[in-house]
Amino acid sequence: MIVAKFGGTSVGSAENIKKVIQIVKEKKEQTAIVVSALGGVTNLLIEASDLALKNDLMYEDIVDQIEKRHFEAIENLFPHYNQTNCKAEVAKKLNQLKEILHSISLLSDLSDKTSARIVSLGEIMSSFIIHQAMLQNNVNAALIDSRDVIKTDDQYLNAEVDFELTQKSLKNELSNDSVDVFLFPGFISSNELNETTTLGRGGSDYTAAIIANAADANILEIWTDVSGMYTANPKLVRQAYPIEEISYQEAMELSHFGAKVLYPPTVQPVLDKRIPILIKNTLSAKDKGTLITKKSLVSGSTVKGISHIEDIALLTLEGNGMVGVPGISERLFGALAKNGINVKFITQASSEHSICIAIDRGESILAKKSVDKEFEFEIFQHKVNPLIIETELAIIALVGDHMKSHQGISGRMFSELGANNVNIRAIAQGSTEKNISAVISENDVKKALNTLHAAFFEDQIKQINLFVVGIGNVGGKLLEQIKLQSDYLLEKQHLQLRVVAISNSRKMLFEIEGIDLNNWTDQLDQKGEKADLEEFIGKMKGLNLRNSVFVDNTANDQVPELYASCLSDSIAVVACNKIACSSAFDNYQHLKYLSRKYNAPFLFETNVGAGLPIIDTLNNLIASGDEITEIQAVLSGSLNFVFNHFNAEKSFAEVVDQAGIEGYTEPDPRIDLSGVDVMRKILILMRESGLHSELEDIKNESFLPQASLDAVTVPEFLETLVSESDHFNKLRQAAENENCRLKYVASYKDGKASVGLQHIPKDHPFYNLDGKDNIVLFYTNRYKDQPLIIKGAGAGADVTASGIFGDIIRTGNK
Ligand code: ADP
Ligand code: ASP
Ligand code: MG
Repeated sequence: MIVAKFGGTSVGSAENIKKVIQIVKEKKEQTAIVVSALGGVTNLLIEASDLALKNDLMYEDIVDQIEKRHFEAIENLFPHYNQTNCKAEVAKKLNQLKEILHSISLLSDLSDKTSARIVSLGEIMSSFIIHQAMLQNNVNAALIDSRDVIKTDDQYLNAEVDFELTQKSLKNELSNDSVDVFLFPGFISSNELNETTTLGRGGSDYTAAIIANAADANILEIWTDVSGMYTANPKLVRQAYPIEEISYQEAMELSHFGAKVLYPPTVQPVLDKRIPILIKNTLSAKDKGTLITKKSLVSGSTVKGISHIEDIALLTLEGNGMVGVPGISERLFGALAKNGINVKFITQASSEHSICIAIDRGESILAKKSVDKEFEFEIFQHKVNPLIIETELAIIALVGDHMKSHQGISGRMFSELGANNVNIRAIAQGSTEKNISAVISENDVKKALNTLHAAFFEDQIKQINLFVVGIGNVGGKLLEQIKLQSDYLLEKQHLQLRVVAISNSRKMLFEIEGIDLNNWTDQLDQKGEKADLEEFIGKMKGLNLRNSVFVDNTANDQVPELYASCLSDSIAVVACNKIACSSAFDNYQHLKYLSRKYNAPFLFETNVGAGLPIIDTLNNLIASGDEITEIQAVLSGSLNFVFNHFNAEKSFAEVVDQAGIEGYTEPDPRIDLSGVDVMRKILILMRESGLHSELEDIKNESFLPQASLDAVTVPEFLETLVSESDHFNKLRQAAENENCRLKYVASYKDGKASVGLQHIPKDHPFYNLDGKDNIVLFYTNRYKDQPLIIKGAGAGADVTASGIFGDIIRTGNK
């Protein structure tokens, strides 16, 4: 015999019920079918009872909703003339329901016994309708009320099965050879007095397992809305995939730790008789599904799956009086057991000073009451503290039969979680080492699942989630480069870059699955919301995605104020914006500290020399023990461009204009021409060399005339460049008279730094520095006579974007 259970979604609509009948018709041997209530109906029944108890008449609306769901199914399953009888039967049950709800609201009293009667109606109605539909489709099916065969104790909502009695009556029912299909409502049962009991939420799976056991079935099929037991909950981990084969033990562990696809008690009755379980998808019947057997596969991944339970409370019992005192744990667990509280997780420090237990949050008040009562005397004597309760927690567990023979799994689990700023409240490892579990904050569940899934199941593809502020010249180029390179990076470096959010000063756009970079401008126009920096950061943190990177492509002075808050949340920061690193030393140092503390890279290669590897080279020199003795550099691509193009034919003002148009200057050209930009750059190099310097320590002899320095606005400033053309021509002439060229040079030596215009003679390495190029000469203990030279384009959107790109990839290699 085959036993097949169809869950709530599988029987949730006429369309799906037709699929179920098709699947049943294809069975070649006698079959027992177990059905759940129509998807969501059990929840509605519970909601209606809660409302009635509160005397809230909204319960009537819920009953109407339940009626509508069933009537719709009937209307789509049966021809007109057959609908009336079916509807009448459903209406009869719903009238009973209304009467019960009415009395609950009158008495303001709802016992477990009454609750069980109410929730049983879901399966009673669904099995009735499905039976009628089977008969109409010429399936030779008999409907058996599970309450007549599955006998239990008096725990109405979570009853214990009397296996002896149940087996006997089931065997008797199933011995009838004249039917092809036995149809049972799942979940429901009855006690000795024939009062309705239920087997716990999700209990239809268990009903099917009990029947499979009694029938000595060949197989137990669990038909649901996903294609098997997945490596992690597919609703939370998009990359999760169905596990082909898994052992009973592994399935039990996964379901115990929250893989809802299988109700935990289901395995036991079939395990005893070695009946395989096959989990299949009603909505996609051709999919292979998951086979659960005794076999424990050694091949494949050592970790078989990751599961989690939400709504967890952590109880901590601690106190000096607990050390070395026998019987404390026994009393603690005794107190919980007496009140029917199910313990999901236990850890005890070896000092015995404290015991941590995780339970369902709903039971935490009862737990506190009963434990504090049990230890009333010790609490009074200050030997034990009152029970501490923490909520909004979750348990996350790695499961696999063969984890114990592989070292390093728990190390990897916790380092991956740590690297993603998932705080761990408690850890437990079953003595059989089939699972390692940890208590974490509920907010971190999705991130933790995805992080662990990537680490243990995905071909080591690392996903980087980007939040990009500033999408003009540089930012726009960056997005273009990401689009063009994404396939290459995925294939060659196993990096997947996903741009989750973009923002300019007007609008921002969030797309959790990643913005399509083929038409981001249109999307921003159409779907973007009003830009708001604080909100941007808030949303980014709220998403709580692993490997998040905040990218600042602006020259704005407010954006850097948010870096600290990003880093403190383990969000990496990549910036071409120089303001943070050239602000007060304490701030720069604090950001570096946060970066180390929270393991969140803070990278700003493009602060100096755009895409040139200047800071990276400097960092490598320092890290390898070298020391910087002197720096000579031309660090302003824009000033270099300006002085290279400034000649007798082209006025200074014209050249500055051209540099602006070609995108080589800062949005405010005064930052470049006043030398402030170069001061910031040499300052950053000094700081990265290990010096504790401030911007004021750098000498700046401006080449600008007083009128330009006094200008208040950008247009005023640009006008002075025209009116003061004589001043600039004299500067040029003076250099030419000495056969020199004008270069704006930054120098550092012996703790002192300066920036300024210099006459560079022909034999100097700076003389032939073309266009907008930059050059840096590092003199170090190792590079004493011949400096280490880095030279190349030092301004421009394309090269700056590629430098930012490099930093982003570096965050992925942390
Ligand atoms: P049914 O109504 O068919 O009994 P359930 O809702 O009880 O279905 O169980 C199926 C659901 O279990 C899936 O839709 C999925 O959201 C959830 N689930 C959680 N963890 C897993 C997992 N590891 N594999 C598959 N499904 C899972
Ligand atoms: N209908 C019940 C529930 O929702 C039993 C089940 O579907 O397994 O809990
Ligand atoms: Mg279920």
